[in-house]
Amino acid sequence: MKLLIFTLFIVSSLHAETFRVLVRQDHSTNTTYKEVELPDLESPDTFDGKYFRIVNGKSRESISFHDENRELVLKAANTYYHLSLAREFWLSKIGTERPLSVPKLTVRVDISNLFDDQGHFAHDNRDPQFNNALSVPAGQTPDWVPEGREDVWGPEIWFRPKKVIDTRVFLNEMGPNPLTQVLTALEHPLINYAQNQLQVSMIERLFYPSYSSGSIQNDLLRFAGTIALTRFLIGASRKADPLFIEKWFYLDTAMVPEVIYHEYAHIILSDYLRISHSTPVLEGFADYFAAAMANKRKVYAKVPGRSTSQPKDPYNKKPYSHWSEANRTASSDFVLAVMWDVREELGEDMANKLIFQARKYLNTESATISDHLLRSLLRSCEDVCEEPRRDKLRLFERFSARGF
Ligand SMILES: [Zn+2]
Repeated sequence: MKLLIFTLFIVSSLHAETFRVLVRQDHSTNTTYKEVELPDLESPDTFDGKYFRIVNGKSRESISFHDENRELVLKAANTYYHLSLAREFWLSKIGTERPLSVPKLTVRVDISNLFDDQGHFAHDNRDPQFNNALSVPAGQTPDWVPEGREDVWGPEIWFRPKKVIDTRVFLNEMGPNPLTQVLTALEHPLINYAQNQLQVSMIERLFYPSYSSGSIQNDLLRFAGTIALTRFLIGASRKADPLFIEKWFYLDTAMVPEVIYHEYAHIILSDYLRISHSTPVLEGFADYFAAAMANKRKVYAKVPGRSTSQPKDPYNKKPYSHWSEANRTASSDFVLAVMWDVREELGEDMANKLIFQARKYLNTESATISDHLLRSLLRSCEDVCEEPRRDKLRLFERFSARGF
């Protein structure tokens, strides 16, 4: 026994190195850096652990603790740390064994390649991606693809490099602010309509430059990327006036804790909500668990020098409109707010359980908010609620108040 304890001591002291990571402060969304130990590391000098392996771009090798690029080491430590917290959250707080059936994840930081489901990585110079993150489903190169491109990969999470974008450039292209008059003159549904029109058109300009020419390779559309980035644009659409918005947009996804929780949630939920493309319902699920874990008033709040993205608001009281169903509004916080209604009504633990269970009644293809999502939540209540008849009625009334 003594020998065992001694051995454990030696083993743990081998890995007792500490790393700098970014965390939110206890009672605010302000951030600070702190020194932490990383759990479950299996390598003495690289970010290779029992559950996560952090690599640089397309590399197969895990990042060294001593890499001379200290930004890269910071991102590796930060993603490793928050992914470990997320895994623990799902095991202990949500009380599911799902993390146990997830294979060891390869986590790529600073990767700008598009994901290619036939070859893992698209060619380097094909439409490089920034300011975004995505979860990638496991896959394999089909045998008809010419030699030299064969690859087999498990589920992965990709964090893209940050890129500073001058927002005035595209705002100027939008012409004079069309919203001011609309907002002051019209009733709710039309305001929503106008807001969404503008939002969709802004998103297209920034993220789908070649959309109209038929290219839909953009992984924002095809894969469940972190749509937190487009929060910036939604903020802009509320007051589409250069005076009200940040001059620069950037999002260093590997350094925003909730983005990391969001991507891990996609992996956990993918037993039913397959990662193939992004929908408002799919993003709402990942946002809900990111928010539940972050436990702050707002999610994806700004991080000095790292993110100017607009936060999402679980307490958003916006009523339902059919526009919320459009795939390109997957960045909205509407579904998150509907799920937060469940939490307000039934309490934290019950809502966590109910929403996690609801995924079983959904799939990525058929996931409308007004029909599939609400039905799945009510059906899930039959499985997990203490008094399903009473609790379903309470939920139903909440949803009615949302305008469904
Ligand atoms: Zn997502």
